[in-house]
Amino acid sequence: MSRKIEEVKPLNPPNISLYTCGPTVYDFTHIGHMRTYSNNDFLKRALIYLGYKVNHVMNVTDVGHLSGDDDSGEDKMEKGAKKYGKTVWDVAKFYTEFFFKTTDALNIIRPNIVCNATEHVGEMIQLIERLKQNGYVYETKEALYFDVKKFENYGKLSGQKLEEKLQAVREEINVDKEKKHPADFALWFKRVGRFSDHTMHWTSPWGEGFPGWHIECSAMSMEYLGETIDIHSGGIDHVPVHHENEIAQSEGATRKQFVKIWFHNNFLTVDGQKMSKSLGNFYTIEDIEKNKLNPVSLRLLFLQSHYRQSLNFTWQSARASQEAFNRLKEIASNLKSDKILSSVKSSKAIAFQQQFRDALEDDLQTPQAVAVMWDMLKSDIINEEKYFLLMDFDKVFGLNLSNITEEKIDANIITLAEKRLEARKQRNFDASDRLRIKIEKAGFKIEDVGSSYKIKKV
Ligand SMILES: [Zn+2]
Repeated sequence: MSRKIEEVKPLNPPNISLYTCGPTVYDFTHIGHMRTYSNNDFLKRALIYLGYKVNHVMNVTDVGHLSGDDDSGEDKMEKGAKKYGKTVWDVAKFYTEFFFKTTDALNIIRPNIVCNATEHVGEMIQLIERLKQNGYVYETKEALYFDVKKFENYGKLSGQKLEEKLQAVREEINVDKEKKHPADFALWFKRVGRFSDHTMHWTSPWGEGFPGWHIECSAMSMEYLGETIDIHSGGIDHVPVHHENEIAQSEGATRKQFVKIWFHNNFLTVDGQKMSKSLGNFYTIEDIEKNKLNPVSLRLLFLQSHYRQSLNFTWQSARASQEAFNRLKEIASNLKSDKILSSVKSSKAIAFQQQFRDALEDDLQTPQAVAVMWDMLKSDIINEEKYFLLMDFDKVFGLNLSNITEEKIDANIITLAEKRLEARKQRNFDASDRLRIKIEKAGFKIEDVGSSYKIKKV
């Protein structure tokens, strides 16, 4: 908020409370989300690397997120349900699973707590009551609104004045005529008028209805992390509205500082353009896999641009990351030996480790951290120290370099094993046996493990 780099001073060291604005589960998780959640993961892993204990909470918005910033649009969930001919609950479940399928494929550590908005409506109602008592709420026939003019310093995060906001808001047909200020935002929508058919609804002191989007983050962060949190992360697009509103709600209720440090991820463009459905550049994890790229290799691409910079995604840059990733795997595999160190001793190796820490501590300079890794690998320190440092740095990079160096297996053997797996899936056991014999003749032993396999050199 100060627009300055500040020292991390946790409320309760070495613990750090971290809240992330999670997905609105009405559509597919795309490459832009992949970058945002990977950056959050680098932050979290860096904090852990530096000795903190991170308690990470993320919400899943499965109700109440309207399109447009002024509560005038449709409910995103209901829209998604209509579009795909499913119930809102099915839509939420399907896209939540897709989200975690994506983040798991990217080797992103899951939050300690994932909370669904629909399971915390009671807490949201309580928070609205508290805000009402403090004089920030007014009610219309359609909704309960937060009165932004009553909150001193509304706009302190974005630095936008309320008057400027007024000019920026467009005339919308759906705007509640009783709304006092265009920047006022709904805390609770009543199941009347344009929302009289709303599928998801709950009983409240103000009749049947459903919560606004912003209130869920204030209510759930308070529920799991307390009234003040150390770090709050989200996309840069959340700054002017969603996070201003979270601040107003949380601080309006508690009269305490809501967030100590904000962590905002910048945008991702595709081939120099904004992502859009019409351009067909809304790439998902399935597109990544279709292009024969290992999703984990994207982490290298994301690491190479700082989180506060925008990143332009191209297939060419993704392929370059895949190649760099392959090289790293090869290097790790060649460096691996039976002699495993527990720390580094040479002054050069210690200096590399320090440079790596310095890069992380300096506002999470991941591009610099990656550069330190390549410099270290090119240096003349002994192989055991290189291997130790590579594994040490990988705690933050999350490339899983230790898992893939178990055994040195030629690419053509892997191809045979993959073909055999495919044959087994199709219950073509003759073909699968022939492939097994080929693998064995080449000097390897293959074993089935669940729906996958393990290969060993014999
Ligand atoms: Zn949020």
